[in-house]
Amino acid sequence: MENVNNPGSGPILSNPDNTAMVLLIDDQIMVGQAVRRLLADLPDVDFHYCPNPIDAINAANQIRPTVILQDLVMPEIDGLDLLQLFRSNAATAETPIIVLSTKEDPLIKSQAFAAGANDYLVKLPDKVELIARIRYHSRSYLNQIQRDEAHRALRESQRQLVATNTALISVNQKLEEATRAKAEFLANMSHEIRTPMNGVIGMTTLLLDTELTDEQRDFVETIRGCGDSLLTIINDILDFSKIESGKLELEEHPFDLRTCIEESMELLAPKAAEKVLDLAYEIDEEVPVTLVGDVTRLRQILVNLIGNAVKFTSQGEVVVTAGMAGDAEHRMVQFSVRDSGIGIPKDKWDRLFKSFSQVDASTTRQFGGTGLGLAISNRLAEFMGSRVWFESEVGKGSTFYFAIKSTPFPDTSSLPWNEVHSNLARKRVLVAEDNQTNQRILTHWMGKFGMHPEAVGTTHEAMALLQSGRAFDALILDLQMPDTDGFGTAESIHRLPGGLSLPILLLTSTHIRAGDPRAATSGISASVYKPIRPKQLLDALSQSIDRRKIIRKGPTDSVFDSSLASRLPLKILIADDSRVNQMVATKYLEKLGYRSEVASDGLEVIQALDRQPLDIIFLDVQMPDMDGYGAARHIRQRWSDDVRPYMIAMTGNAMQGDKEKCLAAGMDDYISKPVRINDIRTTLEHWGPKRRRPA
Ligand code: ADP
Repeated sequence: MENVNNPGSGPILSNPDNTAMVLLIDDQIMVGQAVRRLLADLPDVDFHYCPNPIDAINAANQIRPTVILQDLVMPEIDGLDLLQLFRSNAATAETPIIVLSTKEDPLIKSQAFAAGANDYLVKLPDKVELIARIRYHSRSYLNQIQRDEAHRALRESQRQLVATNTALISVNQKLEEATRAKAEFLANMSHEIRTPMNGVIGMTTLLLDTELTDEQRDFVETIRGCGDSLLTIINDILDFSKIESGKLELEEHPFDLRTCIEESMELLAPKAAEKVLDLAYEIDEEVPVTLVGDVTRLRQILVNLIGNAVKFTSQGEVVVTAGMAGDAEHRMVQFSVRDSGIGIPKDKWDRLFKSFSQVDASTTRQFGGTGLGLAISNRLAEFMGSRVWFESEVGKGSTFYFAIKSTPFPDTSSLPWNEVHSNLARKRVLVAEDNQTNQRILTHWMGKFGMHPEAVGTTHEAMALLQSGRAFDALILDLQMPDTDGFGTAESIHRLPGGLSLPILLLTSTHIRAGDPRAATSGISASVYKPIRPKQLLDALSQSIDRRKIIRKGPTDSVFDSSLASRLPLKILIADDSRVNQMVATKYLEKLGYRSEVASDGLEVIQALDRQPLDIIFLDVQMPDMDGYGAARHIRQRWSDDVRPYMIAMTGNAMQGDKEKCLAAGMDDYISKPVRINDIRTTLEHWGPKRRRPA
């Protein structure tokens, strides 16, 4: 055997340069040499010769020919037998075999083809024909191999795909189970935490309304504050997981933008007042009064940003603005929350929106917080069409911005402050306020009311003006000015000649309790609360200039309004299995002037209804024996709509969908624990007038 080197014994691989590997088996050396000559100098033909047919299979297994040339008549072995050997040998089963015969004999030819030959030539063939046939068979064989390989690869990747798919499906199932378990866990935790929190917050609220020494009040207020922050953390975490799992759905309802901003600031007014910060807001006139969107989520972003601003500012102001932004097609309402606080160092900017991340770990100890607020606000802002961004300078303060898609709601009602009021027109008002923003806001609004305001920045200037004999119809005096105490100033002004007849409006961040002796002795005629609300300013000015010397009693002067029950007498039942929560609700209702009954589970609710008609039931959801859902369904079945009481869910289940579940069970409304007395009042004011039982 000559020219058989070892090209490897691996699987047949496609031959990239399409070289024809030719193996000739012929016992006549002369034939071997002749064919070698015929094929010499062909760059695409690699010739191998095996003179001994006994070695043929071995040689083929090593060389892996793409074409076999084979003699038919050899002394050692019958050519037809060799053909069959090639066919039954794995490496050559498909290799094209050209039989070289001595004569053109149809019988031999057909035997050769039957034994597995692919072609038949008579020795010695013409050079051109031989080369052409070698090339043809070699190429089609190589193509065949390539196709087979491609098929194999395809089948393999199909198999892998199926396997991966199956794996994915099972991972997905596990993930779904895990997500469900997580959601369930969160819902349970939320419920478990909210239920006792209802007791903590409710009881401290009630305690605060009793006679307490200053020290005791301080302690109780601290407990109350801790309860509130704990609740914020729980809400943040719930929200965060809701947003992360994509379960957040935005509402689309018309709402009043001014009220939304006012309510958000109202929440933080006590904290701002404690730190003597000025709170203010300004809304550009081009901003629609009524927008359509998710007011709860908007309020949440505002409360977060205002909360941070108040938290990280020790003196100065926190100002909220709203204006229009975007192009004609994408009108947006852009908000900013500006503070004069500590600012944020540039190298910490990138960490701000990361969940659970705070600018520096020591702030956690100093200011508290979970580091979730901005991450949540940012995601909410994204849901509403933008994101949160900011500017900040260390030591000077920060401004946080976001925008929401503006869908104005056609609203034709004219606003009371857009009309000139006859009793206020051309009245001169002196404003003594050091904060520039509030000065600007006050003068702006009084201008709108048709008045003539004049602003000064210190009490000294105010006193000087008044002493100079200039006549004013009213004075707006900031309670927290750096140079003096507002009550003292008011008293001094009253002692000026003619001072007694000058109505003084006190501008303050804290709500002055009705009957505060300082207000009485210093002769304040009304209070204007920061942030300045046009409606409230208008009312306060009208009242004072009309000489009705009363301290304006705002809705939050006292949370307890025992006159509600006389205006709106109702028969109320509280159903809750927790004794503490029964007590909280009973006491809250007592503060509003109501005597209520209690039930500890659904069955007791039904028994109570059997005894007497009721107007409203506050219904806890999770109770033993018959739960809230069961009770609601039962009541819907037993009593017709025109006699049954309204059912208000009062529950620690505050996850997405919990409200819907309550409504689906037949309840009319939903408030979540911890319950605030204001929630109860609002609910009673909403459902009370619709009661079916004649009063
Ligand atoms: P936290 O619950 O800690 O307030 P946030 O996500 O709301 O979480 O804020 C993250 C961090 O960003 C805060 O801990 C604070 O370091 C910084 N930060 C946010 N707002 C302000 C601001 N108005 N002034 C200064 N630092 C701020």
